[in-house]
Formats: sequence, structure tokens, C-alpha cells
Amino acid sequence: MSSLYTSPKPSLLLSGSPVSSHPLAESFSLSGLFFHVTRSAKRKTLDIVIERDGTLCVSAPVGVGLETIEALVTRRLPLLYTKLEKQAALQKPIPTKEYVNGEGFYYLGRSYRLLLVEEQDKPLKLMGGRFRMLHSALKSPSNLENNHRPPRKAQTPFLLNPNNKEEKENTQAQGKKLFVAWYKEHATVWLTRQATRWSPRLAAKPKAVQLCDLGYRWGSCNPDGTLQFHWQTILLPPNIVEYVLVHEMVHLHEPNHGKAFWQRLARAMPDYEERKEWLAVNGMRYGL
Ligand SMILES: [Zn+2]
Repeated sequence: MSSLYTSPKPSLLLSGSPVSSHPLAESFSLSGLFFHVTRSAKRKTLDIVIERDGTLCVSAPVGVGLETIEALVTRRLPLLYTKLEKQAALQKPIPTKEYVNGEGFYYLGRSYRLLLVEEQDKPLKLMGGRFRMLHSALKSPSNLENNHRPPRKAQTPFLLNPNNKEEKENTQAQGKKLFVAWYKEHATVWLTRQATRWSPRLAAKPKAVQLCDLGYRWGSCNPDGTLQFHWQTILLPPNIVEYVLVHEMVHLHEPNHGKAFWQRLARAMPDYEERKEWLAVNGMRYGL
């Protein structure tokens, strides 16, 4: 299965730290950065991996001296700094959305404000430049239950009602659920239409287009020809969603990220590198 990751370094997702599995791991510091070294008999070249938490791990072949490793790492420092800066930008957490009037929600790269309404035929709509959400739809069954509970006995006056926190969490979960459903529905329509448009140029036709929660991946191409996309994709600007789609459609010909894959992608989308770069730097800002 080929995947496009929301995070630029797929190896970040591997579990288990190489350091803990090698209690005698070497390390060194260079220009204020700290590196862990792991050795592998199979390895022929040096590889530097930035772990999700920012830890720097150098994988090196057995028998290469630490000075040689330090010299090689020194040469790669400028590139490493650029990557670290990008990663820091990626890790800025997206503030949790509040399902209240005025909160902004993305769709195809544009932010639309939320308006809670008392009457509407659907729980959520995008109309007149606003996301309109049915206020009553925010009440999950457990919230309604809370509301019908008899009032609690007198509490210490300056303590907040402990139910408020739970109620707020329920409201947020319910709001998110409504948005995810809306995004999935609209992403399916948008991506299917775009896939049909791109199909002749790419000489590729997906068996199906599915929207789901892919965790850290934007898209994925299954061996049976089904393309899957994270529902979050539809929050991105249209030219970036298009890149994610075309990337996966090219996988219908070329399952791996080899030279042939990138060449085919460049022929179909000559400016793909700019879009890919934009996605790596900005993608994580688009979420719920
Ligand atoms: Zn890919």
C-alpha cells in the first residue's frame, strides 16, 4: 500500500525508540544539537532521522568512526536546520475548535464562520458564506440526559459545576462529528469529480474513492485500485487537494516512490513540487 503522509517523514511513525533498544548507543553534540547514534550491519550509508519529538537519530554502518560521522553530519547541518524549522512549524498545535458563533472552519482552503441556528432542515450546511449548524444538533444524547437530571444539591459557591466540563466535551465531540460527516460527504463528491476530470490525462481510473480517518496520512492507494483520502484533505486549498489526488492516482501506475513515479507525476502536474512543499509546511494547520 502506498501512502502520502501528513507528516513529512514517514519513519517518524515507527514505534519504539532505537535508543532504548540499544542501551550502549553512542551520542555526540554539534552546534547545539544532540545526536543519538545507532549502528546497523546492513547499513551502507548514513541516515539522519528527526523523530516526532525532535530527537535526532543518526543511523550509521558498523565500523565507521565517530569523528567521520560527526564530519558527515556537519556537512548536512544547513539542511537539517531547515527541516527542524519546518517540523517546529508543523508541531504548533491547532487550537481545539469551539462550536460557537463566529468560530472559523476551513473548506477548500477558505475559512467560514459558524452560525448556530434554531431551525434548519439539516444539522449542518454551508450557506451564504457561513457554516450554519442546528443548535439542537449539538446536544448529544448524554448532554440531554444531563439537562434532565434534577439540579444538584448546593455546592461550594466558587466551585464550577463538574458537569460543565463533561458537557463541554460532549458538545465538542458532537460538533466535530457533524463537521466530519459534512466534510466526508462533500469531499467524496469533490474528489470523485476531480478524479473523473484527471482520469484521461493520467490514463488511470480509481476503482473507488473513499473518505475516512487515515491518521497521519493524507491519502493511500490500495492494490485493488481503491483510493482512500483523509476527510481532512478537503479543508486544504483546491490546488493542494488536487495534488493529493493526482499523487494517489499516479500510484495506480507506480506503487512505489521510485524515479518513474515522480517523473510520471511531473508530466501530469509540472508544478507538483511547489504543492508538495506547501503541503509539508502548511498541511497540519488545516484540521478540526
Ligand atoms: Zn505516495
